[in-house]
Amino acid sequence: MDANLHTLFAKHVPDPAAACLIVPNGPVVSYGDLDALSARIAHALVDAGCRAGDRVAVQTEKHWTALALYLACLRAGLVYLPLNTGYQRAELEYFFGDAQPRVVVCGAERLGVVAAAARGATVLTLDHHGGELLDRAEGRPSGFDTVRRDADDLAAILYTSGTTGRSKGAMLTHRNLASNALALVQAWGFTRGDVLLHALPIYHVHGLFVAIHCALLSGSRMLWLPKFDAHEVMALLPKATVMMGVPTFYTRLVAEPSFGRTQTDGVRLFVSGSAPLLAETFHEFETRTGQRILERYGMTETGMITSNPLDGARLAGTVGPPLPGVSVRIVGEDGATVEPGAVGGIQVRGPNVLKGYWNLPEKTREEFTADGWFKTGDMGRWTPEGYVEIVGRAKDLIITGGLNVYPKEIEERIDAMDGVVESAVVGLPHPDFGEAVTAVIVARPGHRLTEAQVIAALKAEIASFKVPKRVVFAVDLPRNSMGKVMKAELRRKLAAPA
Ligand code: AMP
Repeated sequence: MDANLHTLFAKHVPDPAAACLIVPNGPVVSYGDLDALSARIAHALVDAGCRAGDRVAVQTEKHWTALALYLACLRAGLVYLPLNTGYQRAELEYFFGDAQPRVVVCGAERLGVVAAAARGATVLTLDHHGGELLDRAEGRPSGFDTVRRDADDLAAILYTSGTTGRSKGAMLTHRNLASNALALVQAWGFTRGDVLLHALPIYHVHGLFVAIHCALLSGSRMLWLPKFDAHEVMALLPKATVMMGVPTFYTRLVAEPSFGRTQTDGVRLFVSGSAPLLAETFHEFETRTGQRILERYGMTETGMITSNPLDGARLAGTVGPPLPGVSVRIVGEDGATVEPGAVGGIQVRGPNVLKGYWNLPEKTREEFTADGWFKTGDMGRWTPEGYVEIVGRAKDLIITGGLNVYPKEIEERIDAMDGVVESAVVGLPHPDFGEAVTAVIVARPGHRLTEAQVIAALKAEIASFKVPKRVVFAVDLPRNSMGKVMKAELRRKLAAPA
């Protein structure tokens, strides 16, 4: 049987004339329009030499044609590799060197940087002006025979940063994506009548898979926003029935004095994830709108793992029980399941769990237990209701505005700077971003490095969401008896009022 995710989407297309994407101040794109464009793009990719299993790396703005490109990759059996739009040359060189894409697609304004990093790949442009990819697609047939895929074949590779500072490519199969999408549509009660307000980026699991797949598998519509803007979202919410967001969306909405029921009464479901939603935000949102945000938990490697219920108690500070078909266990250092209520490492098993890390068989083995469970790296506990409560991240990952920053990557860059002895990067609570990247630097005696110089140097090298918001100079770093920097202590000190 063909397990191509695109075949599953095709089964759920309502009337081809039905709207799929509504772009404010832009077109209404029907399911038929999207299908025809994705078929043409699939032909163009095949013409460019792409064969089943080849990678197509994509760093584009969130234009609606980028969705057609994603679907084109699926139906042509290609492996979609989305990249954060903030990634700069050094990062791109690493991804392209590792994944060896056949084709790289980027906006025209990025062409110079991308082409310089792309090695032997064919580089094609795609943005709101059009681009070479669409030029090549034009006039090609509006039908395309979906390439058969096995459930275990790769549909996408999403890079997650590694704690060593090296990103790992999570290999996601058609089974991984399809099983998770079907579970979510069911769990969140998606139907054709839904209108999903989509303001998330589409290079990340949340906006790309969770949001888009729910809409496509229920034949519903998406209000397609290029980015989150609180005023625009407030203006559009009366036309939506569901919104998905990172916690930052919700803190920004409740910060608007005029935000309330006028905008939200027609919305049946607000979903939050990618980072912890503060209980304070949850309660404030309920006070203002009468609605309880549904918080769920997942990660790039596994898709969604747990979700608060659609019907039933949504508990602030918890991420709900495991989704149907997904198993979760919480284990201690010894690998044995902990007592209910005790904190341990969260492990997951199910059809949603990644096939492995691209080119890293050893790393893949390390991240799975001998009996086949994936180690999430998150710490949590069971509540008496059987919900998961996440208490922290084992590896000091920083999540800022819903995006992951691994301290090690930033520390290595700072340490390489002239005049730096060593550094530590931590996340400090931030009302808007959730966490703010903060660097502590031990400089060489007599060196006059400034905060502004460090920030400017990093901005030229890496995506700005990773650049520290604040740089503090210290005489030394707190270390434990094993010589490890005590980040928890550092965070406490930095967060304390001066
Ligand atoms: P990513 O792979 O970028 O989706 O990041 C996954 C990580 O985000 C998880 O391992 C968690 O640490 C964190 N995360 C995702 N959702 C939640 C949530 N609802 N509450 C707390 N942490 C979350």
